[in-house]
Amino acid sequence: MSNLPKFSRRRFMATAGASATAAVFLKGCLGNPPEAGAPTSPVASPAASVAPGEAPEVTTVKLGYIPIVEAAPLIIAKEKGFFAKYGMSNVDISKQANWGAARDNVKIGSAGGGIDGGQWQMPMPYLISEGIITDGTKVPMYVVAQLNTQGNGIAIAGKHAGKGITLKMKDDGAALFNNLKASGGRFKAAYTFPKANQEFWIRYWAAANGINPDTDIELLTVPASQTVADMKRGAMDAFSTGDPWPYRIVADKIGFLAALTSEIWQAHPEEYLALRKDWVDKHPKATKALLKAVMEAQQWCDNFDNRKEMATILAQREYFGLPENILLEPLMGKYDMGDGRTIDDKSQAVLYWKDSKGSVSYPYKSHDLWFLTESVRWGFLPQNTLDSAKALIDQVNREDLWKAAAQELGVAAADIPTSTSRGVEEFFDGVKFDPENPKAYLDSLKIKKLA
Ligand code: CA
Repeated sequence: MSNLPKFSRRRFMATAGASATAAVFLKGCLGNPPEAGAPTSPVASPAASVAPGEAPEVTTVKLGYIPIVEAAPLIIAKEKGFFAKYGMSNVDISKQANWGAARDNVKIGSAGGGIDGGQWQMPMPYLISEGIITDGTKVPMYVVAQLNTQGNGIAIAGKHAGKGITLKMKDDGAALFNNLKASGGRFKAAYTFPKANQEFWIRYWAAANGINPDTDIELLTVPASQTVADMKRGAMDAFSTGDPWPYRIVADKIGFLAALTSEIWQAHPEEYLALRKDWVDKHPKATKALLKAVMEAQQWCDNFDNRKEMATILAQREYFGLPENILLEPLMGKYDMGDGRTIDDKSQAVLYWKDSKGSVSYPYKSHDLWFLTESVRWGFLPQNTLDSAKALIDQVNREDLWKAAAQELGVAAADIPTSTSRGVEEFFDGVKFDPENPKAYLDSLKIKKLA
């Protein structure tokens, strides 16, 4: 990063010394030693950049992640020393068994042996804040950055090859799915956690093709790491999750890809960095330090010259535990869809910092509103959610913290959005979502299930 402000070595030594003391204290306090075999913390790089007055209140935080490409900015920030560079020398990134485990761990927080925040599908931070998926216990959270766009797909079991299941189905998709249902039981589609991104991508794609996801499909939850094995043994006909799992279906010759999520909605919002509100409120400088590290990691990840090294790092046993070549091809935008279609286009790959619409990292409030609106569409949230959505989003979405961190990092003004709305969004079927009028979007949709 050539545009970073430079600080003197002497100033850095002073802040680093103070941080080291805090780290020792907190480690004893939390009593959470790193797992055996976990990668060692990178040492603070000589380019460490902690300005006077910006030194974080703590050097440690515990962040959960799921082993899919969305987690890359967190893993890279740790492995490439970006967390340490901004004074967060003792960040613990903790692999979560599944999304339900991540939710349970953030509910108890790191003080209870859980996590302070991490990687989330939307609108999980809202559902956790409102107590909707935490047995009524409200655990207020802040969304502080988007981790990535794209990099997800819808995989279909190989036994359905040649039946015309694709992005835009030529014939009436409902008739096709009814025939499938008649011939072999109800079509089963899985996602990794209910009422969040992956379920929304399957539902959107199905409904746009005339298939009612509530009546024509049986929907079920399967952890990302089990999707390949479950499809192999015939437990499901389709699933939606993050790379490299859809790609692996094709590589292992188990099925094919009907669609990449980038084809359903170019530059769509995907997963987010969100933290417990109490942690952020208590550690505003550490939050900005984390954000600066994640932003620098996102810039690093978006340089395709780094993606080979990124695949090597993510493939390690401690992280994804996968062959590197399975990771590399989708990271480079190379997809063999398994149905004769191939894609070789970096703009369709997972992106972390910039996409065709502008900033990836900045958490647009208009995207949070789409997730809440889509939740209303399918009856996951009551219709009156839209009346209070703006107030709720203003509470949970802390794009102001993102902007403050971006300014401290020295991000060019042109790369810092000036509006909290990305404006009107358009999907592959021509449907538009105007964040100024979510009701019009709901009214325009033929297939829905309003509560
Ligand atoms: Ca995802």
